[in-house]
Amino acid sequence: MKSIKIVRTVEALRAHLAPRRGGERIGLVPTMGALHEGHLSLVRETQTRCGCVVVSIFVNPTQFAPHEDFDRYPRNLEADAAKLHSLDAVDLIFAPEVKELYPQGDATRIEVGGPSKGLETDFRPHFFAGVATVVAKLLISALPDFAAFGEKDYQQLLVVRRLAADLRLPTEILGVPIMREPDGLAMSSRNAYLKADERKVAGELNRVLKEVIAQVRAGKSSIADAEAFGKKALLARGFQSVDYVAIRDAATLAPVEKLSSPARVLAAARVGGTRLIDNMAV
Ligand code: AMP
Repeated sequence: MKSIKIVRTVEALRAHLAPRRGGERIGLVPTMGALHEGHLSLVRETQTRCGCVVVSIFVNPTQFAPHEDFDRYPRNLEADAAKLHSLDAVDLIFAPEVKELYPQGDATRIEVGGPSKGLETDFRPHFFAGVATVVAKLLISALPDFAAFGEKDYQQLLVVRRLAADLRLPTEILGVPIMREPDGLAMSSRNAYLKADERKVAGELNRVLKEVIAQVRAGKSSIADAEAFGKKALLARGFQSVDYVAIRDAATLAPVEKLSSPARVLAAARVGGTRLIDNMAV
């Protein structure tokens, strides 16, 4: 069994990685904790490429708006460490306090253009600057050879890829497929907020996305009609509101009029007080 060390500072992280750099490939899995199988699949994917795997656990305040769930976001470092320990794949947990990553507040921010336009940004305008800023800090702190991100947050994955490319970071960004519950609901730390009846409704999100895909693939409806169908279907099946159901170019997230290159359907909708996102290849 690997023993996992927990470090709290950037200095300690660098000190632990320094002797391993060059000899082994270093992989980083950034998370906000409350770990589930989705996170663990990122760890496994990273382990296939890297002799040294670091998981960061940090609930990043700058990606939450004041009205969002920063304060009640689930935090349980002990349980997370136990899950990672049982995987026998992780060398180091980096779990900094807010002050460690934002020692003088958040005057310095990273804004990524390109794939951050639209979709999530239309509804959470603060979000990607917060994500890009913290991911840049984590990548610069660890300088890993690989860093793994889930396709669950598909737009985020593209934003992070763009960030790493534009800043010429020496890290290859791995995209890892979505892990789902038996009814198809994409695993998420926020699923813990769902009451029993909301949990049932939540399971409809992935079904509706499959129906949207079936419609456009069969050529039965235009992209716009399939998106409109998806929104209506989500409301009919119990979602309180739908932020978007959108079919976009899979590489750029630009709107598409027909299926000529790989496309992705992406959606965000609210059930009870919980906002869920999901996406699938078309
Ligand atoms: P989070 O802790 O929610 O910030 O997620 C940390 C990382 O895990 C992100 O790269 C997410 O995209 C990824 N992730 C979260 N849920 C899943 C899932 N169900 N399948 C695959 N990756 C996921």
